[in-house]
Amino acid sequence: MIVMKFGGTSVEDAAAIRRVIGIVRREVGRTPLVVVSACSGVTNDLIHAAQAVRDGDEPRALSILTGLRDRHRKLIDDLIEKKGELLPSVDKLFNDLRNLIHGVYLLGELTNRSLDAITGRGEQLSSLIIHAAMEESGVPSAVVDARRVMATDRSFGAAVPDVEKVARGAREFFLPPLKRGMAVVTQGFIGAAEDGTPTTIGRGGSDLSASIFGSVLDAEEIQVWTDVDGMMTADPSIIPEARPINVLSFDEASELAYFGAKVLHPRTILPAVRKNIPVRVLNSRRPEFSGTLIVEQKSGPARRDKDIIKSIACKRGIVVINVGSSRMLMAHGFLARLFSIFANYEKSVDVVATSEVSVSLTVDSEEQLPEITRELEKIGDTRVARNKAIICVVGEGMKHTPGIAARIFGALASARVNIEMVSEGASEINLTMVVDEKDVERTVRVLHDEFFTGKD
Ligand code: ADP
Ligand code: ASP
Ligand code: MG
Repeated sequence: MIVMKFGGTSVEDAAAIRRVIGIVRREVGRTPLVVVSACSGVTNDLIHAAQAVRDGDEPRALSILTGLRDRHRKLIDDLIEKKGELLPSVDKLFNDLRNLIHGVYLLGELTNRSLDAITGRGEQLSSLIIHAAMEESGVPSAVVDARRVMATDRSFGAAVPDVEKVARGAREFFLPPLKRGMAVVTQGFIGAAEDGTPTTIGRGGSDLSASIFGSVLDAEEIQVWTDVDGMMTADPSIIPEARPINVLSFDEASELAYFGAKVLHPRTILPAVRKNIPVRVLNSRRPEFSGTLIVEQKSGPARRDKDIIKSIACKRGIVVINVGSSRMLMAHGFLARLFSIFANYEKSVDVVATSEVSVSLTVDSEEQLPEITRELEKIGDTRVARNKAIICVVGEGMKHTPGIAARIFGALASARVNIEMVSEGASEINLTMVVDEKDVERTVRVLHDEFFTGKD
């Protein structure tokens, strides 16, 4: 079997959904599990509605819901003639949403738990409509509620899947209709805690749902269908002439996703690695294009200049924390104490650099920063710098090619970009730098020109 995940833009309107059905139809013989996101913009709208009512503006929240209902009804009108139970099911989802929104109004409080109950409806809506449209166009299909399969803990907003339970659920609920030759449609992003309370696994999480489902079902391939030609040499919204990459190793793709290549959720690759399942990133607007294949294979020494570096990722909104302590830094246990503070707050650290007198590290949000810095003050002078960005240059070829760091720093020096922190992992497949957020586009541009322009 294969997993086919379609992101928000791939199901944004009737034309997009027709394309999806055409793509799935060609793969029916490979027993596809079709994992869908909410239609593009819907999750954001649901969040805005929840925030509006939290702030006391129920009419605004209800008008967002009305807009969403009209959008989904239009989709149904455009796609489906035999509506059957579809309209009552969609109306019920909107009734539930109105009740949830009113509940938030009455309580005057929006918890992550309520937010998950609200945001998850976007995927429920899109999946019902896509399933009905498939049936109507003669693709035999079944829809399975992902909350019966995606068992998670109760960390609402970023719930952690319990892979053993997901495996059991997938065998129980996905396999029977798949074995009957049906395309099974299910939702990405959403799950449920043990008592059935709805959860979500984090923004952009449909990619992760797809890879976990693929992994527990030993899929032959996990396909991630999106709105660009694959993983590209840089974010195409910054570098319009960025090119798709044919093949990436699991390690390269993980680094890129982790350091900002939004095309894949940062945790997508790990479940695929566990079972050595190839991941393919494909363009639903151009299904004939081969996209990017992500596989275990490590590339040997790069044959051409353009193969040394595969891509440049960037991540904005980074906070740099500098902890200095000439007295204690070299004392044993200092770093352990420092990192235990982050561990106690379950805060992940992205980039680390140490010197004789200080440790610099980055985090990607302000969450719990005041508490963390208060504790850090106890062990050293702590300075916090905001509005920073991480730039990550990735390529297996770097480990076999001397002089790459010199080229990177040379290019940035001539463009007068100030680098604030540098880190090169022991794996030598990435070089990570911190720059001012205002310099992001210039930095990516300079590096892309250095390694890719005119290198064909
Ligand atoms: P989906 O809705 O299909 O999940 P996303 O918006 O989450 O799609 O991800 C696709 C977007 O990721 C692209 O439109 C592109 O702007 C962005 N992106 C950032 N970095 C890269 C990259 N290196 N390669 C491809 N796309 C990238
Ligand atoms: N719909 C969810 C989001 O917008 C999940 C996803 O698209 O992957 O974050
Ligand atoms: Mg996405």
